[in-house]
Amino acid sequence: MLKGGYEIEDFKNIIGGSFLHRANQAGIKHIVTDSRKFEFREGSVFFALSGSRRDGHSYLQEMHGKGVRIFVVSSELGIPVLKNSTIITVQNSVMALQQFAAHHRSLFHIPVVGITGSNGKTIVKEWIYQLLYTDFHVIRSPKSYNSQIGVPLSVLLMDESHDLAVFEAGISRKGEMRKLEKIIKPTIGIFTNIGPAHQENFESLNEKIDEKLQLFMDCKTLIYCRDQENIHERIQSQLSKHTLLTWSKNHEANLKIISTKVTGKKTRITGQFEGKERVIEIPFNSPTSVENSCHLWLLLLHLDMSDEIIASHFTTLTPVAMRLEQLDGINGCVLINDVYNSDINTLTIALDYLKYLSKNKKYTAIVSDILQSGEEEENLYRRVAELLKSRGITRFIGIGKQLKSHAHLFSDLKATFYESTGAFLQNANKRDFAKENILLKGSRAFKFERIADFLQEKSHETVLEIDLTKMVENLNYIRTRLQSDTKIMAMVKAFAYGAGSYDVAQILEYNRVDYLAVAYADEGISLREDGITLPIMVLNPELSSYDAMIRYHLEPQLFSFRTLEYFTEALQTSTEARRYPIHIKINTGMNRLGFDFADLPKLAERILEIDVLEVKSVFSHLAGSDDQKFEAFTQQQIADFTKAADFLSDKLPNPFMRHILNSSGILRYPEAQMDMVRLGLALYGITTSLDFQGKLKPVSTLRTVISQIREIEPGEGVGYTPKMPVSEKTKIAVIPVGYADGLPRLLGNGGGNVLISNTAVPFIGNICMDMSMVNVTGIDCEEGDEVEVFGEHLDIYEMADHLQTIPYEVLTNISQRVKRVFIQD
Ligand SMILES: *Cc1c(COP(=O)(O)O)cnc(C)c1O
Repeated sequence: MLKGGYEIEDFKNIIGGSFLHRANQAGIKHIVTDSRKFEFREGSVFFALSGSRRDGHSYLQEMHGKGVRIFVVSSELGIPVLKNSTIITVQNSVMALQQFAAHHRSLFHIPVVGITGSNGKTIVKEWIYQLLYTDFHVIRSPKSYNSQIGVPLSVLLMDESHDLAVFEAGISRKGEMRKLEKIIKPTIGIFTNIGPAHQENFESLNEKIDEKLQLFMDCKTLIYCRDQENIHERIQSQLSKHTLLTWSKNHEANLKIISTKVTGKKTRITGQFEGKERVIEIPFNSPTSVENSCHLWLLLLHLDMSDEIIASHFTTLTPVAMRLEQLDGINGCVLINDVYNSDINTLTIALDYLKYLSKNKKYTAIVSDILQSGEEEENLYRRVAELLKSRGITRFIGIGKQLKSHAHLFSDLKATFYESTGAFLQNANKRDFAKENILLKGSRAFKFERIADFLQEKSHETVLEIDLTKMVENLNYIRTRLQSDTKIMAMVKAFAYGAGSYDVAQILEYNRVDYLAVAYADEGISLREDGITLPIMVLNPELSSYDAMIRYHLEPQLFSFRTLEYFTEALQTSTEARRYPIHIKINTGMNRLGFDFADLPKLAERILEIDVLEVKSVFSHLAGSDDQKFEAFTQQQIADFTKAADFLSDKLPNPFMRHILNSSGILRYPEAQMDMVRLGLALYGITTSLDFQGKLKPVSTLRTVISQIREIEPGEGVGYTPKMPVSEKTKIAVIPVGYADGLPRLLGNGGGNVLISNTAVPFIGNICMDMSMVNVTGIDCEEGDEVEVFGEHLDIYEMADHLQTIPYEVLTNISQRVKRVFIQD
């Protein structure tokens, strides 16, 4: 934003809007698009964006309640009364936001680097920053803000102090890049590479390349790798008038790579540029790092930096961590460990996330010095202090010499300072942390993983990692199969299929599912106690829990006259004033719980007599939706259910929702989606329908590390009651996961595999209670190396097959002593 903000009148003209109301506001300083993560600051304007999934117009009142007085809306209808507010109407609020960003961009005449490609955008962007922050005052997209909304928000961060900007642009379908180009207007382009991502929305690879090339239409210089033949060919035919800067190992190019030599973790790259041989050394050894570095090398040469400076900058590159971990902390705390490179924009995002957590009402931020900011310290830490204050942080712990010497800036906060991570840990007491949400945000050098170890509840080396970003992608994929007004009930029973109830429920609430369902009342109660406010259905409401359910507003499924009568009685003796929402389950062939057809007349009659109930929904459950064999049976169930629901609908005065589809039902019978669907396993990235396995992303990965490696001689055996002596010298790795962690004994003696050094290796010997052994003969591995038991690279379907069971059982068997870590991009 401009330091002085924008006048409202100018702002209105820039976005081509008109005043629906004009009140007396000073000007615009902050843009807000997401009502969920927001703490009021003076001069905030809320853009009510209407996407396919949710409509910002539903949150106008809420934002007004939080203090916002300036709104941009794209509809005049149904706008609630917003006192003392300025309301600007536009045709399309997403386009208005983009238009505003494009205008803002046009005020700056500095080099702007635009990056696109299938992979590596964020790393290249972050590395540009690492290479150039000492020479330029760089503004860059926070995290991976590269979408139709993320790009304008990034560009709007530009202000008068910046002299170099770096933005990434990502697209998934045709027509999107033109819009991003208008906003970014790069002067220098980098095309990282092309791969299969999002290919389903394009007819050919060339069509996708052409779409991406739109970003560079107007830029002066374009950097790319000559060895990517299809990229090269499309650029030659379309952008030949640009200054093209290429690098190549095999062809003539501006930067000809002569050799790359890997020693240990480093790579030495020798190249020729403008007739002169030059060398850089990077502290990485993967081919991808070399590719990314070559793009950047060309950029630095293009910026006329000297070989000495270039070489010395490259040696300082550090890995780009791109995740946020959420875990259970000691004494009921929630721990957010944000390992992104530390800067003020990602600190803002992390604080907003922290404030979103509903579990505790206290918020502590532990933050290290922000290294490599390129900004004057006094200024930087004043901004940090203001940010913390604006986000209502209860307690601040600053770690590092810079923060400590600027402690005076934090006098309005409850703040303490330590010179180093070690100094903090020496003084810290676990009792000082209880029932609060704690953010850890440290620059890499501060090794905040030590603080994370100190503050987390279990520190067993075996963890079940749950990727919440992928879970949301699965949710969104499911949404593409549904009409926009079909509601989603997310099943979080059985500890969210083994993942962890609160954290999953919270991300689902955040992503606006409509309902949650749990198996037992106590699961629902603990979600309520942790601040989850979504309606919750209970699948097995036990008689003894009815009173507690009413107290915590949990909605039972009633499946028999007995449950109906007892629940009614509980309601009549409670203080509940309004009609209480319940759900009626119909048996259509599963033959588990539910009312039968013959029961329906009497059921309708009873419900009409009872004046304390409100039938919220009527539903049934499919018995064979994942199996082609049951196609006719499934259709019959759907037809029978419809008949039953029609019958009740005729008899009962109030309308109710209908639902029958579970995950595979949603995938295979979307025409039966009715008013709501009940989404379970697909959320966790798993489906037993082969057609859809590629579309969903596995969310859970069970990881551990090697405890010990040993070699045994021919004739020796492994573990308890060894079945078979080995016939040759055998290398064994011991891993700290056993049947008490939920690793079935059936996997022992070659019954299954784990992944070590990218190779599947078999279990050897019996699985023990807390440990197991695998055969790593011929595998390059060391003690402490990572082991994947199943998940990201090693299919859970395969393990389930080995065990002759289904993935549901494998997931829900992982014991509670295995620590859950939730990660997000
Ligand atoms: C578990 C469950 C679901 C979800 O099933 P998935 O196959 O995991 O999608 C839906 N409805 C009911 C009644 C359930 O018990």
